[in-house]
Amino acid sequence: MSDEQTPARDAAATSDWFLPSPDAVVSALAGLARERGASVRVHLDPAHVLATSPDPRRRVALVSGGGSGHEPLHTGFVGRGGLDAAVPGQVFASPHNRQVHAAARAAAKPGGVLLVVKNYTGDVINFGIAAERLRAEGTAVETVLVDDDLATEVEGSATGRRGTGATVLVEKVLGAAADTGASLGELADLGRRVVAASRSLAVATRAHTVPGGRGPAFELAGDELEHGVGIHGERAVSTVQRRPAAEVVDRVVGQLLEHVPVGGQGCAVLVNGLGAATGLELHAVLDRVVRDLGERGVRVAAAFAGTYVAALDMRGFSVTLTALEPGWLELLRAPTATALPVAEPVGEAVGAPRESADHGGATDNAFVTGLRVLVERLHGALTRLDRVGGDGDFGDNLASGVRAAARRGPGEGVVAGLRAAESAFLDDVGGSSGPLFGLVLQQARTAFEAGEPGADALREGLREAAGAVTRVGGAQPGDRTMLDALVAGAQVPGSLADVVRAAADGAEATAAMTPRRGRASYVGERAVGTPDAGAVGVALVLAALADAVEPAGDLAGELAGRWG
Ligand code: ADP
Ligand code: MG
Repeated sequence: MSDEQTPARDAAATSDWFLPSPDAVVSALAGLARERGASVRVHLDPAHVLATSPDPRRRVALVSGGGSGHEPLHTGFVGRGGLDAAVPGQVFASPHNRQVHAAARAAAKPGGVLLVVKNYTGDVINFGIAAERLRAEGTAVETVLVDDDLATEVEGSATGRRGTGATVLVEKVLGAAADTGASLGELADLGRRVVAASRSLAVATRAHTVPGGRGPAFELAGDELEHGVGIHGERAVSTVQRRPAAEVVDRVVGQLLEHVPVGGQGCAVLVNGLGAATGLELHAVLDRVVRDLGERGVRVAAAFAGTYVAALDMRGFSVTLTALEPGWLELLRAPTATALPVAEPVGEAVGAPRESADHGGATDNAFVTGLRVLVERLHGALTRLDRVGGDGDFGDNLASGVRAAARRGPGEGVVAGLRAAESAFLDDVGGSSGPLFGLVLQQARTAFEAGEPGADALREGLREAAGAVTRVGGAQPGDRTMLDALVAGAQVPGSLADVVRAAADGAEATAAMTPRRGRASYVGERAVGTPDAGAVGVALVLAALADAVEPAGDLAGELAGRWG
């Protein structure tokens, strides 16, 4: 954001503008109706969500709810295979009994109503009052209380454990069972058994943002982790030193297994995001959890990862373990038209990840070593350049390519060094620049093999390289890419040093150009004034190459002085 676009840090600027005021809950319900108009009916007062086309075999209505801010729980779980009704309260606050009562009355079926309630005082009271009212009206009602949070397992506590991630599995299992026509008694018993067989534990590295722009709910230092955090920003019982993910997972799994006796049916695992954990992270955690359980001899029959019970935007995750009983897996696998997860057979990735260890890359190849030293020196400068027009990873990409080239252990000689670098950049380096650099190195190597390594061969190689880069990337000279350095080098007559300096000047000249290719094109004029990172990288490669051909020169030192 440029300066003139940065609003003053006043109240308005720091408030959660993305939470529509005055009432985010009402707005979100209205939005849900926009999205799911065919399968749910949304009532704004008293606020509740009803399924419009439940399975005709269903005899009992499933009704749940609780504070908002945990979406998709519970409003997203309404529909076929899930809940018949959900009742959202305000953010982190219980719904009113009036809402629960209205929703349950509207959803009630001949076999009665089953209320699924997370164990929080407000929820217990409001769902309890609604149950009394329904019974008084002649509706059969049972309640399943979800209290899976291991962190709140405190002896002598009257409130008991909190209800958290297991709610997802309870509601999935009950939804599928209700669709088979199960009775109220059967469903209540099933729900209670699933709760009893489930425990969860949550960790977080950052609290959620308190709505209204009052910052995070609690402060954590950069090296701290809340172990056993709640889903409303309640602090955990312990704040611990942050450890690598594998260790955190191992501790969580160990604690859960002490309370979840997994039998012959294996267990279901849910890695649940608390709002600001990414899908990428949650799946990585899931793999570690399943791996850890496997090492402990525990069979995993169903595995899920995703954000199902958020705590607004808390950065963390919970792990839920459920020891399965016969028949439960089929219920977890039953289809649903809701945001509830559907189990599939647990699989395993094939093959081993590619070896990426850095073996130090010892090589006596002059080109590779020279380039390595130069890139190490300018790594930070390249990163800064790519931050202006790109995403800041160009220095990393170039450095990783040079390390991969060294790992290939090229013998002596410029051509051997080029060959190692060529295959390293083509095969091992990411980004847009990596493979393009591979093509440049390939053309230089081909030209050096065909002729005598020197200025003429390099010019020939750069011409061919410019052609290849244009064919692949579509850039034209003047688009502010590495091509501008290649073309400048290819066009100048004279010595090797002349070619390198021309390429460096070509790179420098990109500072005046408006980007039209690559990521830099997204920032447009803002990149003007800073040279293109890839073009500078080309000049560095050529400098190292020239120094390897003519060891008396020090073009690397010259360019390091220019951009370092
Ligand atoms: P990424 O954009 O994937 O992060 P890098 O940071 O590794 O890739 O590389 C960025 C460089 O790649 C740019 O500075 C530019 O020189 C070069 N580049 C990007 N797109 C093209 C293209 N279409 N043609 C030629 N060079 C390109
Ligand atoms: Mg980049």
